[in-house]
Amino acid sequence: MNWHLLSITEIAELLKSNPSGISNSIALQRLSEYGKNEIEDKRKKTILQMILHQLTDFMILVLIVVAIVSGILGDLTDTIIILAIIVINAAVGFIQEYRSEKAIEALKNMAPSFARVVREGSTLEITATELVPGDVVLLEAGNIIPADVRFFETHQIKVDESALTGESHNVEKNCNILPKGDYSLGDRINMGFKGTHITNGRGIAYVMATGMNTELGLIAKMIQTDEKSTPLQRRLTAFGKRLSVIVLFICTVIFVIGWWRGEDALTMLLTSISLAVAAIPEALPALVTIALAFGAKRLAKSNALIRKLPAVETLGSVTYICSDKTGTLTLNKMTVQETYEIPNRDSSSTFLENSVLLDAMALNNDVSKDRNEKWLGDSTEVALVQFAFEKNKERTDLEKKFPRVAEIPFDSTRKCMTTFHKTENLNAGQAGGIMAITKGAVEIILEKLVESQKSLIPELESKANEMAEKGYRVIGYAVKKMDTLPELQDFDAVESGLTLIGFAGIIDPPREEAKQAVAECKQARTIPVMITGDHKLTAIAIAKQLGILTSKEDLVLSGPELAALTESQFDDIVERVRVYARVNPEQKLKIVNALHDRGQIVAMTGDGVNDAPALKNADIGIAMGINGTEVSKEASHMILLDDNFATIVVAVKHGRKVFDNILKFIKYIMTGNSGEIWAIFLAPFFLLPIPLLAIHILWINLVTDGLPGLALASEPAEANIMRRPPRKPKENIFSHGMGKHILWVGLLMGITTLGIQYWAINSGDTHWQTMAFTVLCFSQMGHVMAIRSERESLFKIGVFSNKPLLAALFLTVVLQLILIYSPFFNGVFKTQPLTIYELAITLAVSSIVFWAVEIEKWVKRLKTKNK
Ligand code: ADP
Ligand code: MG
Repeated sequence: MNWHLLSITEIAELLKSNPSGISNSIALQRLSEYGKNEIEDKRKKTILQMILHQLTDFMILVLIVVAIVSGILGDLTDTIIILAIIVINAAVGFIQEYRSEKAIEALKNMAPSFARVVREGSTLEITATELVPGDVVLLEAGNIIPADVRFFETHQIKVDESALTGESHNVEKNCNILPKGDYSLGDRINMGFKGTHITNGRGIAYVMATGMNTELGLIAKMIQTDEKSTPLQRRLTAFGKRLSVIVLFICTVIFVIGWWRGEDALTMLLTSISLAVAAIPEALPALVTIALAFGAKRLAKSNALIRKLPAVETLGSVTYICSDKTGTLTLNKMTVQETYEIPNRDSSSTFLENSVLLDAMALNNDVSKDRNEKWLGDSTEVALVQFAFEKNKERTDLEKKFPRVAEIPFDSTRKCMTTFHKTENLNAGQAGGIMAITKGAVEIILEKLVESQKSLIPELESKANEMAEKGYRVIGYAVKKMDTLPELQDFDAVESGLTLIGFAGIIDPPREEAKQAVAECKQARTIPVMITGDHKLTAIAIAKQLGILTSKEDLVLSGPELAALTESQFDDIVERVRVYARVNPEQKLKIVNALHDRGQIVAMTGDGVNDAPALKNADIGIAMGINGTEVSKEASHMILLDDNFATIVVAVKHGRKVFDNILKFIKYIMTGNSGEIWAIFLAPFFLLPIPLLAIHILWINLVTDGLPGLALASEPAEANIMRRPPRKPKENIFSHGMGKHILWVGLLMGITTLGIQYWAINSGDTHWQTMAFTVLCFSQMGHVMAIRSERESLFKIGVFSNKPLLAALFLTVVLQLILIYSPFFNGVFKTQPLTIYELAITLAVSSIVFWAVEIEKWVKRLKTKNK
């Protein structure tokens, strides 16, 4: 559409809107007409696709064919049972996939973005999905533009459109009509586009198009949405493929040997294919998603919103947490603690008379009061204004004499701000003029002083340092008299030749809970690093109070020092730096990159627009829920709802636990599969018939593996979870003895199964198959209990400390007993009721695996004790 060629009045007519907005009823009507303002995910699977996906697995298809053929040639009940199990399996698989899709969707909706609109003349905040064409939106720096809009009021507004156009420089917007012609998106400078973000200024605009009708919507199909699978899932998928080859080979061998020994070919085929279906863990990646999503849900309850699912997995591997100081490690409750006013000030340099410093505090700020008399604004400024207010200096009074006419706003890179005030209304007779008040970081102000004050600098510096060493943020105030308002182009030129009037020292106490979190972090071998725009001495004082700086080895680096280092010099020391002071937001990216060069896994916090690149590049970018800009939230992997450092550490702990439980789950499933393979593979070597029928194998795969496995996700964290080093992300999941465990415990399961079969056959017991089947099933119950902890004995962590698992176990045992004792299932599953004596022996043999794994853990504990 050529909206950029229309005038604002034409636009308003077209939209039937005006600067005070549309009415709520029209908004509702348009919402149903145009739909929600959201980009549809074209790749989303339909339910039918999900169901088909379950049934089109190659091995499943082969199984269906063989089952049908064997049904036609012989036993029809077998075929029916197999088909029934396949259908149930597909249903379970479908439910899992559906749940994981839903969970990912829910994740998206957990952190909705909001838009400020004017409707019926009043401003309100709505979720961005409710925007409709004709809405009037208020936009400011840090916002993501929520729809395609046409500006009708702009104040130095600049937009980063790289997400849409690929152009990296920011585009300055205005509200003028463009002359007729062809314009590319980047040249439509009176328009704003959905998904781009505002870096500077503010503006008001009409919403022209929403959702899929926006430029972003038009190219949505081409946009690379985030890779959905996590590193672990990718590794499991790759591993699954290799495993399938091995399993297929083993199953072929089993088939050939069986056939050669004179077993019925079709039965052997059915058995070996069932075994292949059971032993290839194709459902693992989907189950990992469920476990991660489950973890994300729990994290939300602890105030950490996960935006990208893989973050849950990465959290457990974090080695460095780089955190902003102000507000995250500290309370962000600032109070002026002391002030210092320059004596013998040259009175002609200012129009103000007494308590100049207080006047400057009251005048130079953007703080306002809300309806309940609460201060609103930057916490540093609130502290200063409050201090002046308590000494009876109020901005509203003072501004009658010195109205503000212009300003250079604060920014974290310049670290100062200036306001310009008219002085005409002052004493009659005195010439009118302009007074500039500058406040900012002390050494920045000291660089800008007039010649006459330069000699004072060393003395002033030591005064300021004295305050900084107490952990105060020291703000310097300076003034300058001018005849007329200068051009505000070159900020450095305007902010020069200043006369210092004094300092204020502000305290921002550390958060109590952050101290504990820092200690916990260190125990967990995750290194906490503080990043701040504050002075080095202030930063050091606070870092010591928090326990971040403790030894002589720990380094403190300032922004200018960092800028002077070459990349390789910085790489050499980056791992030892614990505090970065006076850094610019842009330098955070440098820190992330250097730590990455060293192979570290970095979590980085940020709140501003300039923090976005560092957040994106960090392994875990963490945005602030309260004080963060939308841009930083959009770039992040996780949002802290309470802006609190301690929450990051809680999240790391959760991340470790979730990953632990996924590993336990994999261990459980794979050991069970290995047990089944061993039992069937080894039988011929002991001159035994195949112990299990195809339906038994499929049953174990469906029930025994499935239920207790899922319940492992509710396993509580291990006691030592924050006393061990982080997991290395590239590390093979089968290292640390997992691969070995799967093989030997599986072998033990196979041997106990064959053992009871051998014993029963030799003592003339005709129930040998049911006994072997039950031993294999119950051994896994013992196994799941034993692997609940990596090292501790079950009796130490408590038999009852995972209730869902107990319930799953109970259910599985009951189902197995039904199979053994109900005449109907005796027919269907070809089982026989066991006598009490047989059942007792079966239970005793089944417990062997449990005791063996308990002994394995005991040996493990002994070994570490002796070290
Ligand atoms: P942080 O990220 O630690 O909050 P900032 O970038 O906000 O650091 O601030 C950097 C420095 O700029 C502060 O140490 C302070 O000296 C100065 N400063 C902070 N806020 C203001 C402000 N509103 N006006 C002037 N100077 C400020
Ligand atoms: Mg700040």
